[in-house]
Amino acid sequence: MSARVYAARWVVPVATPPIPHGAVAVRGGHITWVGPKDDAPPGERLDLGDAVLIPGLVNTHTHLELTAMRGFLEELDFRPWIVRLTRARQAVLTHDLLLASAKVGIAEGLLAGVTTYADTCESGVALQAMAEMGVRGIMYQEVFGPDPSQCAASVRGLRERLASLRHWESPRVRLGISPHAPYTVSDELFVAAARLAESAGCPMAVHLAESEAESRLVRDAMGVFADGLRARGIAVAPRGDSPVALLDRLGVLGAQPLLIHCVRATAPDIARMAHHDCAVAHCPASNAKLGHGIAPLLDILAAGVRVGIGTDSVAANNRLDILDEARVALLMQRAATRRGDALTAADALALATRGGALALGLGQEVGTLAVGKRADLAVFSLGSPRTTPAFSPEDALVWAAAGREASLVLVDGEARVRDGRLVAPPADAHAALRDAADALATWRDAGGGG
Ligand SMILES: [Zn+2]
Repeated sequence: MSARVYAARWVVPVATPPIPHGAVAVRGGHITWVGPKDDAPPGERLDLGDAVLIPGLVNTHTHLELTAMRGFLEELDFRPWIVRLTRARQAVLTHDLLLASAKVGIAEGLLAGVTTYADTCESGVALQAMAEMGVRGIMYQEVFGPDPSQCAASVRGLRERLASLRHWESPRVRLGISPHAPYTVSDELFVAAARLAESAGCPMAVHLAESEAESRLVRDAMGVFADGLRARGIAVAPRGDSPVALLDRLGVLGAQPLLIHCVRATAPDIARMAHHDCAVAHCPASNAKLGHGIAPLLDILAAGVRVGIGTDSVAANNRLDILDEARVALLMQRAATRRGDALTAADALALATRGGALALGLGQEVGTLAVGKRADLAVFSLGSPRTTPAFSPEDALVWAAAGREASLVLVDGEARVRDGRLVAPPADAHAALRDAADALATWRDAGGGG
């Protein structure tokens, strides 16, 4: 089998400096060579012209099954937002609609150059969607249960769900576990889920330190989440100084979960995260849109914590574009720190690629352009007014090209996007999504969700 050689005005390996007039050779799904195009090995050559070739982007946190809820939950505060989301999903979105939702989400992500997805999923459809759409990822099966007396039943249900999904696993897609968040999961269930993750060798993810309401529940047993639990007859008591301290006390940080959000992480929290080598999924647009604030990203990075960038669901963001999310991350940190050099575009691009891969434990496979890694690549054209002129590939990509579609995307060396179009669009998924939107609107207009 001969190599394919992809040449572009710039190749950005991420772990090493950009290569002007660079090339990447691919064979058998792997990267076999990276360097100046004039030195490239023989093979079938594709000259991509005025473009930047980067590692496939990594979405470190999303909920693909919720793509049908894009724009459905606007202008709500956090607790009513999550209550309505949960009720609408249960009342309206069937298995087939959730699966179509996940596939359209992946289609959107692929067109934005995203090749790896870390998805937390209630229904379990995202694993099938990732497998069928030919992308890489981890689907963390969500588990809920704020009442300690539900713990055994929740764990039993989780085991059954994992067993029913195993046949979708492959070297490209695998299963993990996600006890959802401190306001939906009892201490007993956190401990049981962490034990299950460790015994099954599964990665784990938790929404953590996202909102003030969550912190008040954990620290003071007060606030809207505490009120909601008491209204359901569930006893509520203070559980720790902070959500991160809670998981440390329970021994859950020892399972090295991916910690999603960490908006409210304090200095002691960050020290705990670093001590246990937990990773963070940083979701700046979701955190801003839902009014939670700005995560202390620079402090988290300074502590040596692995960090990737996530979009969260389109119910909290409206788009699944990781370059755009990298741009938002930059803007937020510069605004928060009042420093114009707080983080560079190259730093943000590294978080969106290598950082995400390391956060997910996939650093040996993807995240940089290096010999031996899987050939997950994304190419963005610079041949439009918006990206002209371009002095540096990282600045052009993050500051100017963000929000534009990729021209070419490969996963394991196979094209998923070519000439800016999906090679295999998900059949009937867009029509199903429109049906889902109609059903959601009908449910809302009939007074669904209270
Ligand atoms: Zn989330």
